Amino acid sequence: MLCYIGIGSNLGDREKYIENAIEKLENIEGVEVKRVSHIHETEPVGGPKQGKYLNGAIEIETGLKPRELLAKLQDIENQLGRKRTIKNAPRTIDLDILLYGDNNIDEPDLKIPHPNMREREFVMKPLKEIYEGI
Ligand code: ADP
Ligand code: MG
Repeated sequence: MLCYIGIGSNLGDREKYIENAIEKLENIEGVEVKRVSHIHETEPVGGPKQGKYLNGAIEIETGLKPRELLAKLQDIENQLGRKRTIKNAPRTIDLDILLYGDNNIDEPDLKIPHPNMREREFVMKPLKEIYEGI
């Protein structure tokens, strides 16, 4: 399945966290990283006052089911020191499933397409880069 992942970081060495997360994604069995967008610096949206983000998008081909993929992404977040505190809190790394083929999933802990992605410039800009073949 062709699938798109959103990646973001606004704590610590943001470039390094993003680099490491992509490397870990490449090492997951059943995931092939196909394309990575440019990484953009963006203003935080919502949440407490916090530093700017680096955001990007990644195209993968995967045989994993949505929930299996989500669990792997959460593993990577945990390995990279992600702490879950309040909503929209600053984070070392955030990995979201944006699209999973043309599947629609609406469950409490898994919503695909990712909620409000179409209104979010920091999601759509890198996605467009991938679609338009940067
Ligand atoms: P956010 O990314 O919204 O800032 P978190 O990364 O802390 O917040 O994720 C909170 C919860 O969002 C996760 O526990 C996960 O179950 C849920 N979630 C729902 N849909 C998705 C999705 N498409 N990708 C990643 N997480 C999702
Ligand atoms: Mg998330």
